[in-house]
Amino acid sequence: MAPTSPRLSAPSKSTPTFFPDKTSVVFVLGGPGAGKGTQCAKLVRDYGFTHLSAGDLLRAEQDREGSEFGDMIKEYIKDGKIVPMEVTVQLLENAIMDKDEGRGRFLIDGFPRKMDQAVRFEETVCPSKFVLFFDCPEDVMTERLINRGKTSGRSDDNAESIKKRFKTFVETSMPVVEAFEKQDKVVKVKAVKSPDEIYEEVKKRMGERGFEMAKQ
Ligand code: UDP
Ligand code: MG
Repeated sequence: MAPTSPRLSAPSKSTPTFFPDKTSVVFVLGGPGAGKGTQCAKLVRDYGFTHLSAGDLLRAEQDREGSEFGDMIKEYIKDGKIVPMEVTVQLLENAIMDKDEGRGRFLIDGFPRKMDQAVRFEETVCPSKFVLFFDCPEDVMTERLINRGKTSGRSDDNAESIKKRFKTFVETSMPVVEAFEKQDKVVKVKAVKSPDEIYEEVKKRMGERGFEMAKQ
């Protein structure tokens, strides 16, 4: 009998829209509150990256008038669950097209958080260069999120949602990091100290992976 192919159910599109020799995609992962957004802002300033946060794109889509996905996204975010990948991958692909400022360097923050998203994105949008992973203990992340919740206005920065987000992170997102680790594509940075101290380490590790600071 012919072997069954797991790819039969894959989407019909099988070549990426963007090519890694022209477009650099770096995935930025870490638990909720690990400091992904904070470090991304520094990298944007110094390296000429375009920053795309999957969570921000989902929140914008949720609030977009007439969006057919708004209610669904709202529910998933409050429960700390991963929105079906079709929506997130499409939002990211659109953003890469719209927001490229000609430099072709993208930080994709908070994505991929589930294996199916990782596979679909790399097959149909663009293969990644590596994953920048911020490693932070849960108690530190909880404290940061509770603090952020005082001003963030986010529906998921409360104790109950935070617990659910951690569960999703451990059960669903860490396996993605482990899969990239097997490909030797994870750059792990401890994320407990101050933002500036952490960034020193980030810069060092970016250099090791061939990323130089952009000229000011
Ligand atoms: N989310 C998702 N898919 C993604 C990224 C985010 O469904 O690829 C949802 C998920 O519910 C997550 C929420 O958006 O808990 C907030 O994500 P964000 O990255 O903004 O949170 P952070 O980890 O930065 O606190
Ligand atoms: Mg964030």
